[in-house]
Amino acid sequence: MDSHQSPFIDEARIAQTLQAAAAGPLDPQRLKDVLAKALELKGLDASDVAVLSQVSSPDQAAELFAAASRVKDSIYGSRLVLFAPLYVSNLCANECQYCAFRANNAELKRRVLSQSEVAAEVKTLVEQGHKRVLLVAGESYPRRGFDYVLDCITTVYATRLGKGEIRRVNVNVAPLEIEQFKRLKEARIGTYQLFQETYHRETYARVHLAGKKVDYDWRVTVMDRAMEAGIDDVGIGVLFGLADWRFELQGLLQHIRHLEQAFGCGPHTISVPRIEPAVGSPMAFAPPSQVSDDDFKRIVAILRLAVPYTGLILSTRENAETRRACFALGVSQISAGSRTNPGGYQEQQDDVAAQFCLGDHREIDEVVRDVASMGYLPSFCTACYRLGRTGADFMELAKPGEIKYHCDPNALSTFQEYLADYATPQTREIGEALIAKTLEKMDAKQREVSTKLLEKVKAGRRDVCC
Ligand code: SF4
Ligand code: SF4
Repeated sequence: MDSHQSPFIDEARIAQTLQAAAAGPLDPQRLKDVLAKALELKGLDASDVAVLSQVSSPDQAAELFAAASRVKDSIYGSRLVLFAPLYVSNLCANECQYCAFRANNAELKRRVLSQSEVAAEVKTLVEQGHKRVLLVAGESYPRRGFDYVLDCITTVYATRLGKGEIRRVNVNVAPLEIEQFKRLKEARIGTYQLFQETYHRETYARVHLAGKKVDYDWRVTVMDRAMEAGIDDVGIGVLFGLADWRFELQGLLQHIRHLEQAFGCGPHTISVPRIEPAVGSPMAFAPPSQVSDDDFKRIVAILRLAVPYTGLILSTRENAETRRACFALGVSQISAGSRTNPGGYQEQQDDVAAQFCLGDHREIDEVVRDVASMGYLPSFCTACYRLGRTGADFMELAKPGEIKYHCDPNALSTFQEYLADYATPQTREIGEALIAKTLEKMDAKQREVSTKLLEKVKAGRRDVCC
C-alpha cells in the first residue's frame, strides 16, 4: 500500500476482487449461493458483492430483486421513514465540479439564512407534518464559523408550532475536528451524515479542484473522528455517476467493515444519491460514469443484501417512478416535499439557488398518500433517538430482529399523528384504512402495544413511542 493510500480503502484489493468476479460469465450456481447466503441476514463479503455486481440478464436481475425484497420485508416490513432536508446556506469554499454550490459558480444566487429565517423554514416543515430534518449547509461559514451550524440546530429544536415540532435533527456539514464533533454531540444531533462522493482516488482528485475537500484522506476519515467524539449514528454515501458503481460498492463495503472493526458498529445509514443537473455545473449534466435506472436498482438491491441492518436513504433526486421501484428493493428512509435552496420551504424551489434539480417535486401529502396506497406504512418515528437507542445499542436490538416490536407500533402511532394533524381528507381516508389493515396482520403482542399507542394519540397525546 503506498504511503498516500488511506488505511482502509485498498484500491488494489478492490481491483483484484472485481477482476476475479468478471473473469468469466456469471456462474448461475454461484449467484444462487450468494443469494441464499444473503437470505440468512448476516450480510455479504466483498467477493459476494462483486458477484452480484455482475448480474446482467433480466432473469438474474429478477432473482436479485426477489432476494432483496425478502430481506427488506423481513427486517423493515412495510415501513418507510420520512424526513426533509433543511438547507440553511449555499455558501461553499470548495470546487466540486458536479455541484451548483461550488465556490466559483457565478450563476448561483447565494444565501445564508438568519436564525429567524431558519425558524420560519422549520415552522413550514412542522406545518407539513415533518418530525425529522437533515440540516444541510455548504462547506463555508464566514460569519460565525462552525458556531453557525450549532446556532441553527438550537433554533430547529427550539421552534414549535401548535402540536408539532422537529424531534430529530440529522446533520450534513463539512468534515470536522474531534473537538467540534463533541460540540455537535452536545447539540443533540441524531445522525452525522457525510458522503465520500467517490472512493476512487483518481476520480476524486479530478472532480474536487479547490478548497479543503481536495484532501481525500481528511474526508474519508471523518467518521472515525465523529465516532471517536462519541457520535454513535453516522451516515455514509456515494454520489453515483462519478466512478464505476461496482468500484464504489466495494469502497462502501471497505469503509463499513473498517468502522465495524474500529468502533464495534458500522454506519447507521447509507445514502445513494445519483448526480442530477445543477445550475452552472456542466459535469452534472454529463456525469463521467452515468448510472442507468436498471443499474441504480441493482445498487439498491445489492446494498440491501450486503448490509441488511443499515438504513438505506433515497432522496427526491430520483423521480417518483424510480422511488416507487426502490421501496421494495431495500430503501428504508425517503425525503419528501424537499427543497434544496436555502429558504425554499417558504419561497418554493428556486433552481438558481438550489444544489441540484429535483426528480420528485410532489408535496409531502401526495408522497404520503402514494406510499400508503402502495401498502407501505409512512413513519415519522424518532423513538430510538428520543429513548437513547443509538449506535451499538441500536444494532443489538436490530440484529436479532427485535427492533420491529418498536418500529411497527411507533410507525402506526406517528402516522396516526400525521393523519390527525396534517393530512388532507383523501390521504386520511387511505391512511386510516392502512392502519386498520396493518393492525390485523400483526401478532397479538404487537397489536396490543400498537393499539395502546394509537388510543393515546387519538386522545390527543403526541410523541408517544415505545
Ligand atoms: Fe460545496 Fe458540498 Fe457542493 Fe462540494 S458538494 S461544492 S462541498 S456544497
Ligand atoms: Fe427508527 Fe427506532 Fe423508530 Fe424503528 S423504532 S423506526 S429504528 S427510530
